[in-house]
Amino acid sequence: MFWAGLFALLLLAFTAATGTLANADPLPRERQLSITMPTTRVNLSAKFGETSSYWGGLPHSGLDFDGDTGDAIFAVAGGVVKEVGMRGSYGRTITISHSDGVASMYAHLSATEVNVGDQVFAGARIARMGATGNVSGSHLHLEIQLRGVPTDPYGFLFAANPGRVSDPPAWACRIYSC
Ligand SMILES: [Zn+2]
Repeated sequence: MFWAGLFALLLLAFTAATGTLANADPLPRERQLSITMPTTRVNLSAKFGETSSYWGGLPHSGLDFDGDTGDAIFAVAGGVVKEVGMRGSYGRTITISHSDGVASMYAHLSATEVNVGDQVFAGARIARMGATGNVSGSHLHLEIQLRGVPTDPYGFLFAANPGRVSDPPAWACRIYSC
């Protein structure tokens, strides 16, 4: 009985180890999903990685799109709504799950127009811009998360042409120089 138990444990450990190796991917996963515009106007007030006393000295975890309360917010890619609700300094938020452990989070919303479990397509209207949470004015904080970790949206914007930036979407060039 003891040996059978030990064998099962070793088999489990072996499966876990080989499973990790099998899942290893030499290409960044963010290259596999391209994102579309979350707002009708692209007027960026903060980029990913910028630091400011406003964020407690921490690097900014997303992209801030300036606008007015009530402006329409669109899903940047197809997926399933995972979370809708208040999240501290992020205010009212929506989080959408996409493929390969990628999620998009929309923060500081004034109103939400989807529910947990809803299927959404890229470009679907999901919310209204607002100024809830820790903000100095109305804007959208868009955060792209890779397995729960905030990630630079750069790779997603240029996903249509991985490794090259010769043909990026025009709106991406208003965020990153092209
Ligand atoms: Zn922000």
